[in-house]
Amino acid sequence: MGIATVNPATGETLRTYEAHGPDEVERRVAAAHEAFRQYRTTSFAERARLLRAAATLLDEDTEDIARTMTVEMGKPIVAARAEAAKCAKAMRWYAQHAEALLADEHPSEHDVQDSGADRARVHYRPLGPILAVMPWNFPLWQVIRFAAPALMAGNTGLLKHASNVPRTALYLGDLFRRAGYPDGCFQTLLIGSREVEGVLRDPRVVAATLTGSEPAGRAVAAVAGEEIKKTVLELGGSDPYIVMPSADVVRAVKTAVTARVQNNGQSCIAAKRFIVHQDVYDDFVERFTAAMNALTVGDPLDEATDVGPLATERGRADLEELVDDAVRRGATALCGGRRPDEPALRNGWYYRPTVLTGITPEMRIHREEAFGPVATVYGVRDADEAVAVANDSPFGLSSNVWTRKDEEITLFVRDLEAGGVFVNGMTASHPALPFGGVKRSGYGRELAGHGIREFCNATTVWQR
Ligand code: NAP
Repeated sequence: MGIATVNPATGETLRTYEAHGPDEVERRVAAAHEAFRQYRTTSFAERARLLRAAATLLDEDTEDIARTMTVEMGKPIVAARAEAAKCAKAMRWYAQHAEALLADEHPSEHDVQDSGADRARVHYRPLGPILAVMPWNFPLWQVIRFAAPALMAGNTGLLKHASNVPRTALYLGDLFRRAGYPDGCFQTLLIGSREVEGVLRDPRVVAATLTGSEPAGRAVAAVAGEEIKKTVLELGGSDPYIVMPSADVVRAVKTAVTARVQNNGQSCIAAKRFIVHQDVYDDFVERFTAAMNALTVGDPLDEATDVGPLATERGRADLEELVDDAVRRGATALCGGRRPDEPALRNGWYYRPTVLTGITPEMRIHREEAFGPVATVYGVRDADEAVAVANDSPFGLSSNVWTRKDEEITLFVRDLEAGGVFVNGMTASHPALPFGGVKRSGYGRELAGHGIREFCNATTVWQR
């Protein structure tokens, strides 16, 4: 696939970009390595000043970059503005908290003496140039949630963004340069996925983080494994959304719709499998189907649009295949299950919000991620069955549970195989809360203290 901006609302190629060749990649890797030698010695105050400057610029650029994202990958413009604001907030959060999060850790006096030392501590040092392989779905946020902590820790960054968001990728490199970061601290590599291996094997690149699909994660982790380089993987998800009889069903439905169709349904932490207790099943399904059916599908630049097009033609084809497979094997589409009919939407990669019931384990959608506005609904008899259905998935990113019963909350928190349990709400990332999954959703954590320490050398200092 070429590196190009193709408007998913029209299918029109707006601009193609020439990929960086080997010489340019070499120049940028060398710059990241060179920059690290100095940048690693800068104070937290200096790093915070730079990151705050970048946040200020991002605030000023919000309208432009929001339009760029919408035109490149189709997210509704209101959501694009919110994404930019969220990024600026996370940058300021790390500017404020990084020093405390990376403060030296001191074992107890007893343990220090027991180790034979007079003094001992853990000191966090940066690692070096980190390669970030990123997806298009939150083209700013995915990058910033890596870059803000990495830069505050004293690392340098090389971004290989998804091939369909080159304009956003170039903007990001430019943002940090304009903010005053020394040359080489954060750069964009305009390369295809085949060039990732060479960059990762370069001895000057010390680690990698990848957000994306399972095959991409496996490919990058395999190379990193051979090179003994640290990786963080944030991969796909098929998050359960459990609704128990004590829940406020009206609120649960309203949130369920947002949780499923946010970002046109293309969010790793979108709720995808709705697991509903039989006592509230009919009520939930009726309200949920009505609400999904009432969503406005249309031009993502229109502020009234709820659901825009899918980001790529391939992505829509994959989603259609999943739905068609389920329906062929006996699932019922209570709404959607097809492209919209409106002539104005024919050239874009739109798909109608869809609710599927009657899901069985042999359907692909039972185990695969539906990356678009398609919900599957399951009926269960009790909390134990809800957990069993929820865990019957290769993924384990996050989870959502709706109940007012403490004993059910305790059970779900104990038993759900996921990196998060959100109770009476939907999963959302926040700079202060660690983010990441288990099982095929990946490993490692982003955000909070966990995220910033992933790419640090926790150095034991033992002293007599
Ligand atoms: P993708 O195809 O895996 O692409 C993600 C990135 O990986 C892109 O930069 C892509 O480059 C690169 N890539 C693909 N194959 C590669 C390979 N063999 N070696 C090296 N790099 C490779 O994923 P996507 O379609 O953009 O994003 C959707 C997926 O990301 C979904 O599964 C979603 O759940 C997941 N996701 C996870 C999280 C999380 O935090 N867990 C967040 C967002 C998205 P090219 O574009 O050049 O191919």
